[in-house]
Amino acid sequence: MSDRTRQDALDRLMNGNARFVAARLENPNRTPQRRAELLGGQKPFAAILGCADSRVPPEVIFDQGLGDLFVLRIAGNVATDDMVASAEYAVVHLDIPLVMVLGHSRCGAVTATLHKHATKGHLPKLAALIEPACLLTHGAPGDPVDLAARVHARRMAARLREESATLATAAAEGRIRIVAAYYDLESGRVEVL
Ligand SMILES: [Zn+2]
Repeated sequence: MSDRTRQDALDRLMNGNARFVAARLENPNRTPQRRAELLGGQKPFAAILGCADSRVPPEVIFDQGLGDLFVLRIAGNVATDDMVASAEYAVVHLDIPLVMVLGHSRCGAVTATLHKHATKGHLPKLAALIEPACLLTHGAPGDPVDLAARVHARRMAARLREESATLATAAAEGRIRIVAAYYDLESGRVEVL
């Protein structure tokens, strides 16, 4: 996998996001023909670990279509074991060159963790992974949710390497690039952190 391939994948995402921000969507690869082309298999160009938040659908905000993105969504974009396994699948079996962890502004999961509201049922499992970012940004100037969401996205990108020898090796050998990014709900813009 060349540097060019990994950079191309990121450029393709960011160009799609620029179209989304400018309201010039191409809505690519959504035709019956594309559906038919994909029957033989998929070759998505990026994996995205994003939040389940309904306001942050990767195919929409990056203006992509069928077969383009391998999307892992979970409240608070946390790199749980199952998400790490899914990212490994994307890299090992689909040869994906880019893994992006996508946090976002006004994230409900981050807000609930900050306010210690994620205490019932299974929620503490997710909150436990978000909490370190809340502690790290505590008292810093700015919006506490947005600050924590940015640090959290970076931490989850690091966690993918820490929890997975497969991903760490692929990144060290330059076969994949792992990036953290942040989506702003107001502007629609994605920023690579
Ligand atoms: Zn969220």
